[in-house]
Amino acid sequence: MGYQEAKSSALLQQQLRTAGFTVRAGVAEIPTAFVASYGSGKPVIAIVGEFDALPGLSQEPTSRRSAVVQDGAGHGCGHNLLGTASLAAAVAVKEWLAAGHPGTLRYYGTPAEEGGSGKVYMVRAGLFSDVDTVVSWHPADRNDASPSSNLANITGKFRFRGIAAHAAASPEKGRSALDAVEAMDYMVNMMREHVPQDTRIHYIITRGGAAPNVVPDFAEAYYYARQPDMRILDGIWERIVDAAKGAALGTGTTMELEVTGAVWNVLPNEYLGGLMQKNLERVGGFTYTPEEQKFAEELRQTLTEPPTITLGSQEKIQTPRQGAVGSASTDLADVSWNVPTAQVVAATFVPGVPAHSWQATACAGGTIGVKGMMVAAKTMALTTIDLFTDPSHVQKAKEEFDRRRGPGFVYKTRLADRKPALDYRK
Ligand SMILES: [Zn+2]
Repeated sequence: MGYQEAKSSALLQQQLRTAGFTVRAGVAEIPTAFVASYGSGKPVIAIVGEFDALPGLSQEPTSRRSAVVQDGAGHGCGHNLLGTASLAAAVAVKEWLAAGHPGTLRYYGTPAEEGGSGKVYMVRAGLFSDVDTVVSWHPADRNDASPSSNLANITGKFRFRGIAAHAAASPEKGRSALDAVEAMDYMVNMMREHVPQDTRIHYIITRGGAAPNVVPDFAEAYYYARQPDMRILDGIWERIVDAAKGAALGTGTTMELEVTGAVWNVLPNEYLGGLMQKNLERVGGFTYTPEEQKFAEELRQTLTEPPTITLGSQEKIQTPRQGAVGSASTDLADVSWNVPTAQVVAATFVPGVPAHSWQATACAGGTIGVKGMMVAAKTMALTTIDLFTDPSHVQKAKEEFDRRRGPGFVYKTRLADRKPALDYRK
């Protein structure tokens, strides 16, 4: 899981060293973050790889729910494939560079994508400042290079402290931290009516007391708030913080907030999307073997809603759509506001299988995941070689990037100067 990916990070680094890359490990004060480099001079093209897993999604590569480790972590977002496909692309492009082409190729090992904002700290540390273009991908249930945006996301833990007391014998002496959490949640739930429709707010109560007969002196709520525009999200987040302050005031407790993560909405690049699309079409999709087909059909029966996406779409390349806005968030977004970023998704999951599910882990651990992964690897390798070969690609991507950011844009992370939240999964 996030910031604990010691083995995955080490394995990727070792493969890159063996392939002839120079590796700087432990960058941006993150033990599992690294930058691998090959070649010299301009342009500088970076391929990004992720490798963190998700809690509770451990799963065998089978069509029935069966954890490898009970309550263990699993690759429900396919980041095991993500880092590996990026590695395959980087090694392929390195071979091509070695044959006598100028330029610098980098592989960025970026930990804790799932809520840990790993890349944000790497951007903040200036690691992307000389990069001309970034090439990346993500696992999905289709092959698609549409330039799309998604949701900016701010996350934080609201900690309330009250006074413990016997809940029956002397409740009047207590001040409940759990009351504060509930009051805050209630206010935020009412607030949902008065925020733009496309806003997403979700929370869990991570600490709610130890026993019903003790007034809880400590309670904690863990919040995510998302919006397609970071500048609108700023205002919504401020109102959530106000709700927490109001809850503390009304319950006689104190509140302390730790902002654990903050990522922007992705800045799409249509030009780079078009370049990716051309290469994705050249690579093509893939077909299932009879066993894979059987697995896919069985797996789709375990979904609560019948999938609208047809089986067999992993053979197809989706026609690109403009202006698509996904409902997830990624720390790649912060990279995209600093460097023109190309992205593609590949059909590593059975069509209809949502990310962050055990079904997705099952796909990511099997042959379907590997096939989809190689579609992404080849598409990224071809795109990276295009970027090295023809300087007009980088130029055009940069022009669109400048136009979309607007004049005088200054990137700023909402994480301010906090240290990487290395323990956010603990
Ligand atoms: Zn992911």
